[in-house]
Amino acid sequence: MTLESHRPFIEALYRELHAAPELSHREHRTAARMAQVLRELGFETHEGVGESTGVVGLLRRGEGPTVLLRADMDGLPVTEAELVPYRSSAVDELDGQRVGVMHACGHDTHMAALAGALRVLVEQQDWSGTIVAVFQPAEETIDGAQGMQQALRALVPGGIDIALGQHVMPAAAGEVLSAGGPVMAAADHLIVTVHGRGGHGSQPEKTIDPIVLAASMVVRLQTIVAREVAPSDRAVVTVGTFHAGTKQNIIPDTARFELNVRSFEPRVRERVLAAIERIVQGECQVAGAPPATIERGVSAPLTVNDPGAAARLAEAFDAVFGDRHLPQEPKLGSEDFSELAAAWGAPYVYWFFGGFDPETVERARERGTTDVDVPSNHSPGFIPVPQPTLDTATMAMVTAARTFLA
Ligand SMILES: [Zn+2]
Ligand SMILES: [Zn+2]
Repeated sequence: MTLESHRPFIEALYRELHAAPELSHREHRTAARMAQVLRELGFETHEGVGESTGVVGLLRRGEGPTVLLRADMDGLPVTEAELVPYRSSAVDELDGQRVGVMHACGHDTHMAALAGALRVLVEQQDWSGTIVAVFQPAEETIDGAQGMQQALRALVPGGIDIALGQHVMPAAAGEVLSAGGPVMAAADHLIVTVHGRGGHGSQPEKTIDPIVLAASMVVRLQTIVAREVAPSDRAVVTVGTFHAGTKQNIIPDTARFELNVRSFEPRVRERVLAAIERIVQGECQVAGAPPATIERGVSAPLTVNDPGAAARLAEAFDAVFGDRHLPQEPKLGSEDFSELAAAWGAPYVYWFFGGFDPETVERARERGTTDVDVPSNHSPGFIPVPQPTLDTATMAMVTAARTFLA
């Protein structure tokens, strides 16, 4: 592989992107930069794809499979720690507040690696097929990929054979982690409004107290994972907000709480969501209250790698990375990458790579202090070391593309 000659470009692009992050759906300069990279490489380049800042590049080279390669572009409302000279000092406004902006999820490494991989692939002459390069906006708000679906179908009407994507994580730089089957959880956000009947705090008999009712729901909801989900399955039900009342001697009319639900299998997810509905409405009935309102917030789909494709890729990763290719446990985080493949109902593989000083990670693993000593995604210190992170991510993307191109 001809990686050496592209290394300075990839590292410089990483630092440039890291210093200038933009929030979800506002990736204007980032998107323009990635479009420039695509054009310089001779890709048919489309900007503003999906009524947002999406960028799609097409490179057709003879007969063969169509392979979609994806990098996400958005930064986060996080003020970066002062650790590197290419630190971001960007600020923006979000919900009326001034916020620092940082590539705190490492999407800058994804873009630099994909740009580097495309350069390597363009240079290599021994493959044929079509590359669909996607620079996706708004992964963090879980609506960027879905927003691109229609436009992608129009740009690639013949469909794709596979979609490929990767994410940096708190593991040692140089490591690649992959698995078949479920790799990231589905996330559901529910907003429950409990309707009671308000009144004076001294006359509870004239009211239906929504606080007592909602409190009972919150406690009973904890039994779903404990008593209704098999120990061998995984799910999380968290009540993250609870709001009711204004004053101690008033029984309010309503109470409101929000739930975050994570699951790894559609049947478990459906069971948990049905149990929530049953418990919430059941408690209302017990209290003689009208049915509660349950609204849906933004939900993220499951990420389930195609087992056959993941096995082919694992073999290719073994050949390139040897013992630095490790099995990946399913993560409880969520992603919208699968929505890109879902545009055509195509299979996909999503894998991970490490981004942190191998010695630090090794020491933390020995001491069992990884959670404390290795920065986690979305934290102000989540700044992947440039190398061997970028070499590894670039090689992983090239290897994956080559596994499925002719
Ligand atoms: Zn993130
Ligand atoms: Zn991310």
